[in-house]
Amino acid sequence: MKKPVILTGLRSNNDLHIGNYLGALMPLINMQVQHAKDYDIHLFVPDLHSFTTPIDHSKLYEQTINNLRIYAAAGLDLDSPNTHIYRQSYVSAHSELTVILNCFSHMGELSRMTQYKEKAENKPNISVGLFDYPILMASDILLYDAQYVPVGADQSQHIELARDIAIRMNNKFGDLFTLPEPEAKQAEFMSQTERMRIRDLITPEKKMSKSDETGKGVIFLTDTPEAAAKKIMGATTDSFGEVHYDKKERPGISNLLDILAALTDTDIKEIVSRYAGQTQYGELKKDVAEAVSSFLTDFQFKLSQIDDAVIIKKLEASEIQMNKVANSKLLSVQKALGLRL
Ligand code: ATP
Ligand code: MG
Repeated sequence: MKKPVILTGLRSNNDLHIGNYLGALMPLINMQVQHAKDYDIHLFVPDLHSFTTPIDHSKLYEQTINNLRIYAAAGLDLDSPNTHIYRQSYVSAHSELTVILNCFSHMGELSRMTQYKEKAENKPNISVGLFDYPILMASDILLYDAQYVPVGADQSQHIELARDIAIRMNNKFGDLFTLPEPEAKQAEFMSQTERMRIRDLITPEKKMSKSDETGKGVIFLTDTPEAAAKKIMGATTDSFGEVHYDKKERPGISNLLDILAALTDTDIKEIVSRYAGQTQYGELKKDVAEAVSSFLTDFQFKLSQIDDAVIIKKLEASEIQMNKVANSKLLSVQKALGLRL
């Protein structure tokens, strides 16, 4: 029997940050620990999606390998035969299915994507690639019949879109694709009530993003512990002067609490109670800065121990295997559409 598939991807356009780590990497690794035998786990690099926003192409190849080192340092078990690590551009079926799905997707539904609106805002020349990437993402998911897609809150709209496209195709052509689970079930599967969304430290109204132009409000996993601590101390808060968790009214403080809770595996309520009666945020900031810098010290040590040869070997083996799986799904789609007998 085919095992259910869990799939996630992290763009290799820049170093990863603590939001990627907490929102995407950790849920996946926890799942690997829990479910290694019962699921097929796909962790791929959407390298074709790296340049939907401008990047330095001379660094792209190395950046991809860098991110894979990060997966390994975060604790992903590369020896597990049920875990697959591959680059999107090395499995050409992703591109081909995208061209096909484009014809069964609507301009209207893509225009409504929040990520697109945010990334396109105030940009003079918006690429078709940026507009279309949710379809590439749908291909990434549907090619492997992925049921669970652990991602941060920013991507859940795209997973709903993939589901809608799959339903549309199945209605027209028969059972082609397994549906990715709806949002509520995805979060439940990740033992979360809602998906993690770490915010930018300077502008907490928006999420932390690795393509952020200044990177000043972003804690990269490659930041020195001292630089990261400084960023936390400089985080935007508010003038209430009382530690209180309220994402809407107090996004800055709530974000710091989220980071501290996640890094120290402590309940938010318990953390808030420690600062009862305080009228300033200095103490909380110091604690978050300490937690972040000790996390980075530990993480960066692990990163320095990673052997590239192990990563390359795993990549090559997974890419051979995934080409077989993806090409077989693509062939069934081609047959259903009348492209093949
Ligand atoms: P970019 O600015 O290049 O889009 P990003 O930081 O949004 O970068 P992605 O590569 O788009 O990162 O997303 C990788 C994974 O990390 C996705 O699963 C996404 O949901 C998750 N993620 C991204 N940003 C955050 C965040 N701030 N908090 C929690 N999860 C996040
Ligand atoms: Mg993103």
